Amino acid sequence: MKAVSLNLKDFLTATSYNPSPNRFREGETPFSERNLPVEYKCENCDYRISFKTDDFRKHTNLTHTNLRLTDRKIIDKTIKKLKLKDNSFLDFYCPNCEQATTILFKGVPSGYWGIFEFEIYHIFVLKFQEGRETIVSKLKKIKREKDVKNTCC
Ligand SMILES: [Zn+2]
Repeated sequence: MKAVSLNLKDFLTATSYNPSPNRFREGETPFSERNLPVEYKCENCDYRISFKTDDFRKHTNLTHTNLRLTDRKIIDKTIKKLKLKDNSFLDFYCPNCEQATTILFKGVPSGYWGIFEFEIYHIFVLKFQEGRETIVSKLKKIKREKDVKNTCC
């Protein structure tokens, strides 16, 4: 398995949540709250999974993982390699196809009332590496191309 980084805009309905703008009284619903939840469309099967602000709040600075240890290790390695360790994460298996998915984000209390806000920076999914069969057939193809080159030059 290997971790693959996704283009956020292709798979999320929103990447950030800022409760501060367009709010005049403390009791008012923050403007951006009306756009929630954030919805993630599974990269593998298009299944839609939605997250509430609270999901991100609960996972801020938390080390709890929902992934199996072997899967988590692959993600951890990638995070370390790309120096993304100061992000919080929320990870899960797609309920439909079970693709391992990790959302990296930063969450902080901010704004005039110190309300929680967050921004999503990365999504990684775990994919099977190309099987042995594919590699073998690729090598055969390269060899064939070489043979063709040899005969014409
Ligand atoms: Zn899926």
